Amino acid sequence: MRQLAIYGKGGIGKSTTTQNLCAGLAEMGNHIMIVGCDPKADSTRLVLGGLAQRTVLDTLREEGDDIDLDEIMKTGPDGTVCSNIRGVESGGPEPGVGCAGRGIITSINLLEQLGAYTDDLDFVFYDVLGDVVCGGFAMPIREGKAQEIYIVCSGEMMALYAANNISKGIRKYATTGGVRLGGLICNSRKVDNERELVEQVAAKIGTQMVHFVPRDNAVQHAENQKKTVIECTPDVPQADEYRALSKKVLNNTMLVIPNPMNIEELETILQEYGALD
Ligand code: ADP
Ligand code: MG
Repeated sequence: MRQLAIYGKGGIGKSTTTQNLCAGLAEMGNHIMIVGCDPKADSTRLVLGGLAQRTVLDTLREEGDDIDLDEIMKTGPDGTVCSNIRGVESGGPEPGVGCAGRGIITSINLLEQLGAYTDDLDFVFYDVLGDVVCGGFAMPIREGKAQEIYIVCSGEMMALYAANNISKGIRKYATTGGVRLGGLICNSRKVDNERELVEQVAAKIGTQMVHFVPRDNAVQHAENQKKTVIECTPDVPQADEYRALSKKVLNNTMLVIPNPMNIEELETILQEYGALD
């Protein structure tokens, strides 16, 4: 069982990319569990076809500790590519109260207790919010739950700033545990020189750009149907982009301890590629 975490700035496309990537892996016959670690609780909507999904924290609040796995874990619809995918949403604290990171710790511990990590699983994905890797959000890395991290970014300054910061968090725990960076996934925002810029940043950090995912309205079209692109429109070019990403992740052997940049180095690169103009 490979356990992967997807990090990246809020709104960059972590949940969309993760679910489409998982659909690609599922199409190849892999069995997958996605654990949503974002209080937004929208990490599994596309693979579960919008099935009513109650978060772990809400369920605990409403029912106390005595809960069954099937109350918090759902499987994708029968007869679809996503029938090989299970989803769980950690959820968040009541707004203004408590630490969102703690929910992740609670959820993963509960999933372990309830026996969710079954031997038939090929992959577990953690879809984690985090511009910086702090507190509970570092949990999947800190506690050695996830061994491989992928960072979703774009050529925008803030996305790369976050990617560099997340690399710092990975480096911190890589030296004590076994966690490694698998690469950057560029989810294009169509900024100038984007592919070259992200490749350059990846190289500086000591990693690779795993794939360049184009920006495409097929994503919104599928999202409106509560589906991944692979499921909704399997023959469009964007579906093949996600299949290519899936293959690259499946076969990736470049797992590194990253060498994050200092802010001056990062800004120099951004300037070179015109990202600060
Ligand atoms: P995050 O999980 O990082 O907060 P989301 O995955 O929810 O971000 O993405 C935010 C929105 O961006 C999605 O609702 C989707 O419509 C859009 N989006 C993400 N990736 C793409 C893409 N490659 N092409 C077009 N739209 C995209
Ligand atoms: Mg998300």
